[in-house]
Amino acid sequence: MALNEILQQSAKVKQQVEELSLKYQRQPTSVKVLAVSKTQPAAALAQAYTAGFCNFGENYLQETLEKQAALAHLPNLTWHFIGAIQSNKTKEIAENFSYVHTLSRLKIATRLNNQRPTNLAPLKVFLQVNISNEASKAGVQPEATIELAKEVIQLPNLSLQGLMCLPAASDDLAKQREAFKELAQLQTEINQQLGLQLNQLSMGMTQDLEAAIAEGSTWVRIGTGIFGARN
Ligand SMILES: *Cc1c(COP(=O)(O)O)cnc(C)c1O
Repeated sequence: MALNEILQQSAKVKQQVEELSLKYQRQPTSVKVLAVSKTQPAAALAQAYTAGFCNFGENYLQETLEKQAALAHLPNLTWHFIGAIQSNKTKEIAENFSYVHTLSRLKIATRLNNQRPTNLAPLKVFLQVNISNEASKAGVQPEATIELAKEVIQLPNLSLQGLMCLPAASDDLAKQREAFKELAQLQTEINQQLGLQLNQLSMGMTQDLEAAIAEGSTWVRIGTGIFGARN
């Protein structure tokens, strides 16, 4: 996508989020946009930053490190890791990101906790839940999520924010809402059983933005809607 289109698309996404928040009786400020910039060049991120986005979601470590170096002059950029996490990448993820949205195993959580530099704030994490129970999808099973949450809250260098999901794709709003509703209910259950007050939900992408806002998402992860189709 041409760089000037990113400005227009960004404005459109912001307006959409605001309108949908009002439609579903949400405070517009309670829905934050994570600009998903995987495969996009640093110049594209700089353009989205000019349009007012400062949270960027990336799936690949090496690519992110290069963009972080190229954009080091921009203040207040916040980096979120939203990709699959391999054990041998945890150290660099712990050192170079503020958020991880795709935590689903205790082994990875322990490594991130041990490798988080102590001069940085605790790493904010979401537990990725395989809410649609798809064999092909990553994530902890819904019924195992409470147990994992219980372990993660013991780790002092991690700060559990809430749950995240990437449900089975569907064009149907009602069906999209079902999966998000289940995730929100699971979070309520965890809060009750563990006496927590988790109040962040990472759910919704370009195609299921409305359903996610309707069901209480606080972080919508928007790639295509801002940057156009990926190569
Ligand atoms: C790529 C990606 C997105 C963004 O998807 P779009 O359909 O381009 O908005 C959101 N979340 C995750 C985990 C992704 O990998």
